[in-house]
Amino acid sequence: MIPTVLPTPCPKCGAAPREVDLSKLLKKENAGTAWVPSCECAEAIRKEQEAQDYLRYRTQLAALRFQKLGLGDPKKIGKGLPITTDMAWYHPNKAFAEGRHLIVSGNVGNGKTTTMLRVAWFLCMAGRRPRGGYIPTMVQKFRSEDGREHIEDVMDGDFLILDDMDKLRGTEYQMEVFSSIINHYDVNNRPILSTMNLLPNLLGKRLISNGVPADIAESLASRVRHRADFITAPGPDFRLQEER
Ligand SMILES: [Zn+2]
Repeated sequence: MIPTVLPTPCPKCGAAPREVDLSKLLKKENAGTAWVPSCECAEAIRKEQEAQDYLRYRTQLAALRFQKLGLGDPKKIGKGLPITTDMAWYHPNKAFAEGRHLIVSGNVGNGKTTTMLRVAWFLCMAGRRPRGGYIPTMVQKFRSEDGREHIEDVMDGDFLILDDMDKLRGTEYQMEVFSSIINHYDVNNRPILSTMNLLPNLLGKRLISNGVPADIAESLASRVRHRADFITAPGPDFRLQEER
């Protein structure tokens, strides 16, 4: 990507732009992020400092939100699986605006969580507020006695993460709460990013075998698949699950 840098006169002091070292900008690590000072007057330098402080603040806030959900250190997210040009999430801002969902399926260690986290981190850095996380941990917190506040908090995100969706199980109450959360995100066009250890069309059956009531299981499965991009990790054992 070639950065588009237009040498304009300094908006602060009106001085003509100094020469820009394009070779620095064309370095891969600077792509799209390098800031080109048009001037070295005090105001221009202060403005640059401000922009850098703001970026640092945004990064810290995003990391805080990310880690609060137990998603780990965003700096350590790997590359994951390719998101191809035919997928809605190839244009993540647009996909977010359209409330598209994402399902990454595959075996443990095949990069499915990494892929989902990469999208989640992008959204966090864009200022979007994540909710959800690892399914068993998430569901455990839905309790009829003191879980109300937690449930309201889960409802309050801009997008929802369901890591290891196929591990969903719990009491009838927990499943009803979970179901109302999924419906809330889906009907309000807020993205649901899920990972699972099986092909998405088998999710309903798996949830039923986990003990989730059949009507809830089928409705959940169809909600997360609704408007979703599907990414399937290649893996040696993965296809065997079709026969189960
Ligand atoms: Zn200036």
